[in-house]
Amino acid sequence: MADKAILPGATLGVLGSGQLGRMFTIAARRLGYRVHVYSPDTDTPAGQVGDAEYVAAYENLDRVRDFARGVSVVTFEFENVPSPTSRAAAELAPVRPDGEVLHLTQQRLREKNFLQSHGFPVTPFRQINALADLEAAARDLGLPAVLKTASFGYDGKGQQKLKSAAELPEAFARLNGAEGIYEAFVDFEKEISVVAARTVDGEFAAFPVFENAHANHILDVTFAPAAIPDELSREAVKLAQGILEALNVVGLVTVELFVTRDGRLLVNELAPRTHNSGHLTIDACVTCQFEQQLRAVCGLPLGSTELRRPAAMANLLGDIWLAAGGQPDWSAALRDPLVKLHLYGKAEPRAGRKMGHLTATGATVEEAVARVRAARGRLVKT
Ligand code: AMP
Repeated sequence: MADKAILPGATLGVLGSGQLGRMFTIAARRLGYRVHVYSPDTDTPAGQVGDAEYVAAYENLDRVRDFARGVSVVTFEFENVPSPTSRAAAELAPVRPDGEVLHLTQQRLREKNFLQSHGFPVTPFRQINALADLEAAARDLGLPAVLKTASFGYDGKGQQKLKSAAELPEAFARLNGAEGIYEAFVDFEKEISVVAARTVDGEFAAFPVFENAHANHILDVTFAPAAIPDELSREAVKLAQGILEALNVVGLVTVELFVTRDGRLLVNELAPRTHNSGHLTIDACVTCQFEQQLRAVCGLPLGSTELRRPAAMANLLGDIWLAAGGQPDWSAALRDPLVKLHLYGKAEPRAGRKMGHLTATGATVEEAVARVRAARGRLVKT
């Protein structure tokens, strides 16, 4: 492996320029790499800390090739990069994870079909192209259910919960011609995620399982270790390993899962990249998810994923700025010396926009959660 490794000093390319790219870039710089970032936007979270910011449409394949020519490897922080973009980049540099993984995870139907055909547990689903499909799905799989657009959904965007047959025509109309996926509603007990990396040589490492609480479909608080039996954690990691192997991933992938009330695991979705639920690894694990992504895509040995202390992360959405009428009270949040602040360099706080996060560690996971929630609560003066 060593002779193929992309070593410190090399330049790495990131497609996408949001906070995941920013934290990847910070980790890469710590290890002595340079980072070029590509996206249609300027003054981006990742661009601000990278060595070069390529500003062009993903469809501008000449510019994509220029970008790829200047780097030793291309990775992602954003999965909705069009396939032709990753193919153009792959002419000039290895793309990790490769375009196949990206293609699969961009579309919920493709992803669920892949998972199901490989024997990974998923909630029953149907493809929706016509109102008749929706009616048939409701008959076969029952209600309630969740109707999602098959492509380009995240943070609950393009999702509708369906409760009765009377809602079907309107729900179908709201798809607005887009292909849909009908999923049986999972009355889950909790949501967890496994962030895992795999190298060219097939070395695999997963972080401890994270437990995730959402608010308004957006991740709100994550803590680790998840409050689930060890046996279930092992099973979740085994599922993740099976998925990364089936996809032949080189890089880092996140597997989001539901834990059902009867203690079963169902895979909800895959992300071919680092994940919001993995942010606590920066402050709480021996190796953070961003360094692990780097190690995997550069052909270096993976780092230890050991959780040094129980930890919790709370997202900071633009809503906090709006409630504070300006800058949140950072000093008040940081009064707890076990709380760490991460901000993404986004100028404009909008409702629902991820602006940063707080992490707290503690002697127990309950303590870490209480600390991070209390710190976030102090950001807005009452
Ligand atoms: P997704 O974009 O698929 O990750 O969905 C966002 C959130 O919606 C998930 O984290 C769940 O909280 C919820 N959700 C998605 N699919 C289902 C489902 N089939 N049953 C119940 N809740 C769901």
